[in-house]
Amino acid sequence: MDLKSLIRDIPDFPKPGILFRDITTLLRDRQGLRYTIDLFAEKCLEANFQIDYVLGMESRGFIFGTPLAYKLDAGFIPVRKKGKLPAAVHAIEYELEYGTDCLELHQDALNQDSRVLIVDDLIATGGTASATAKLVQQIGCELVGFGFIIELRDLQGRKLLPDVPIISLVEY
Ligand code: AMP
Repeated sequence: MDLKSLIRDIPDFPKPGILFRDITTLLRDRQGLRYTIDLFAEKCLEANFQIDYVLGMESRGFIFGTPLAYKLDAGFIPVRKKGKLPAAVHAIEYELEYGTDCLELHQDALNQDSRVLIVDDLIATGGTASATAKLVQQIGCELVGFGFIIELRDLQGRKLLPDVPIISLVEY
């Protein structure tokens, strides 16, 4: 199946110069959705990932991370923007093009024995995924790999990531 044909390109969103890769058109297509999650899980199994948890970043990482966790017989843990999680959190600040942002994870969600796969819909500069990786590594648990539906290769986001396997389904 041609996943690219189900991903809609929106120029100049959310600001001029950005070509937004809109996955809502893929999600609403029942065959496309099933194919995407099945392929994602298949690639993780091929990579022989042994994981306890999928960590998904707010908010599109939740959409793909939860069904992937289900298929891999793992738990799902949300990584959220500042102030959204109700219990005590670990937090990490990271640089954006302008200013900083903050991601949070429940303190009791992971321990040093946990094996973790980090999932988001898309990797662009790699800033979000690399901040999440730092959060996981600070806790001292095992980062097994990364999974993305879309990778924007020109931005070379993978260079920011630690040396573990990286899966992506569609490249631009
Ligand atoms: P980055 O931290 O630069 O790798 O950006 C990754 C995050 O920003 C992901 O959560 C994406 O959902 C979102 N994002 C960045 N660039 C795009 C784009 N061109 N189209 C859609 N989402 C994007």
